[in-house]
Amino acid sequence: ESGLSGDDAVRATNDDAAISRLAAVNQGYLSDPYAKHFVRRPQRRPPVINRGSYTRSKALDTLVQQFLKSGDGSPKTKQIVSLGAGSDTRWFLLKAQDLHPARYYEIDFPEITGRKAQIIKKNNEMTELLGEHLLTSGGTELHSDNYHLIPGDLRNFSTEILPRIASLGFDKSLPTLFLSECVLIYMSPRDSANLVQSAAESIESGVFVTYEQILPDDPFGVTMLQNLKMRGIELLGIRAHPSLQSQRDRYLIAGWDEAGAVDMNMFWERILDSDERTRVSALEIFDEVEEWRLLSGHYCVSWGIKTRKGADNGLKNVGL
Ligand code: SAM
Repeated sequence: ESGLSGDDAVRATNDDAAISRLAAVNQGYLSDPYAKHFVRRPQRRPPVINRGSYTRSKALDTLVQQFLKSGDGSPKTKQIVSLGAGSDTRWFLLKAQDLHPARYYEIDFPEITGRKAQIIKKNNEMTELLGEHLLTSGGTELHSDNYHLIPGDLRNFSTEILPRIASLGFDKSLPTLFLSECVLIYMSPRDSANLVQSAAESIESGVFVTYEQILPDDPFGVTMLQNLKMRGIELLGIRAHPSLQSQRDRYLIAGWDEAGAVDMNMFWERILDSDERTRVSALEIFDEVEEWRLLSGHYCVSWGIKTRKGADNGLKNVGL
């Protein structure tokens, strides 16, 4: 991956995420029958990385499930917008269990959505879940009844993306979840702040969830940034939101009513079900306890909540 720069290097981070996810699936951490379709050459990952992929997925799944069950308890009265979705398989996992929301939008660069659309198109299991569907824009878009894969640049969120999803049935009155998993951090603080604010303004109620790196300045953080830089990747946003407090503030400043944040140590030790912790701990020999603590302290999940004025639709209970 070295030699890439700018947007190409950012796009390449998606392959890395997909390979790591599949490694965790193959080692028994996660169950996802679709992950393998998005990886050309599977690779093993060290236990500390597998455990990291697991906690990341589990923390986000917990928030997504809370959101889908909030209010009237039905996913069918809600919508999800996945920002920089990459090779995420979440919609297929939800659809297979009939837990999918009324509408689900995935946004990424056309290079990524085009490849994803081709992979989906060639796979019977996934096309069956889609039902009737259509590829458009030279194969970079995929549309079905309640799943839309859309090419676009998130730096133009309010001018390009919001109008586009509005033309595809986005309903501002439905509780909406915006999901950004390792995405905002690659954007400038100004672009991501605009996005987080425009998202709040685009809905009556909803949740914004972010997973990304924090703490750039301690020795582990410095090494983390250096390693990424060698691969041409810069975490443009990390200095604007380097702590749990500044992660929470990003939502409050941008018009969200409430906010929360936890790092992955907190999630692993205090929030994750103890049965799950026991099961996962038994999957591989795990000697890197100190490295695990350092690594998980440098990743956080944060969320902002916008409640409907005057009516409680249960979103206040979303949070870790
Ligand atoms: N969310 C997926 C996951 O966690 O598996 C993919 C994460 S990957 C690290 C980051 C993704 O964000 C890439 O697919 C990249 O193309 C996308 N991305 C970053 N900046 C973007 C932008 N300005 N517009 C659209 N997509 C962007």
